[in-house]
Amino acid sequence: MSAARTDYHIHTTLCHHAVGIPLEYVQAAQGAGLTEIGFADHNPMPEHFDDWRMSIEDLPRYLEMVEEVRASGLSIRLGLECDFIEGYEWWIETLAGKADWDYLIGSVHYIAPGWDVDNPKYLSRFRDYPIEEIWALYWKHYGKCIESGLFDFVAHPDLAKKFGYRPAGDLRRFYEPAIESLAKKNLAFEINTAGLRKDAREIYPAPGFIELAREAGVPILINSDAHAPDEVGYKFDLATALARQAGYSKVCRFEKRRRIEVDLCT
Ligand SMILES: [Zn+2]
Ligand SMILES: [Zn+2]
Repeated sequence: MSAARTDYHIHTTLCHHAVGIPLEYVQAAQGAGLTEIGFADHNPMPEHFDDWRMSIEDLPRYLEMVEEVRASGLSIRLGLECDFIEGYEWWIETLAGKADWDYLIGSVHYIAPGWDVDNPKYLSRFRDYPIEEIWALYWKHYGKCIESGLFDFVAHPDLAKKFGYRPAGDLRRFYEPAIESLAKKNLAFEINTAGLRKDAREIYPAPGFIELAREAGVPILINSDAHAPDEVGYKFDLATALARQAGYSKVCRFEKRRRIEVDLCT
């Protein structure tokens, strides 16, 4: 496979907020002309943690569900979207040994205990706290997620903008330290089209981030974060155009946690 059109961020119903069976996602991918997809559902925690991830008891079923759709003929990768939460690094290491993963995605949703920044339940906090502080907290954890060395790439870099709240001024002050860490750790990030479906009305991360990352030589993937079959490959034309405008010509694939860089399809 010299050129690839992949989507490595796809959920299943095991996380309780996605719809459709895995085969429907595969069929959507085939219809959209993707060459390979990867499932990456929200990781289980050692104990009940919140209501939007698979339970540890469901992990064997998850592995089975991904294995089953390999019969479709489409190249299928096995991944997991893991929450980076300080104090749970040991748990990510434990999970890493529980399956033959092709990749682990590092995500920051929690910016403080009990506050997942993308959860509409806490939307009022964007009016109660200065946006500047919310963003600073988010990026502090994102930097630690990158630096942890636990993951193969990181998800939706500027997720804190999901509901459309952005601090005033030049946002590169938040992007630059993250990009410096990515470059230092030789870690890739995803261009995630889900932001276009949210109030942010913009891909994660913003074009300014993508441009700076390209200058720093940080590798990319293009992902949809599909929680429904019709979201597979969502607006990939736009994401590809953004990547190309920034100067990217390669994307990453992963196999057994080994990174392979291939040409970006047009
Ligand atoms: Zn989700
Ligand atoms: Zn996520």
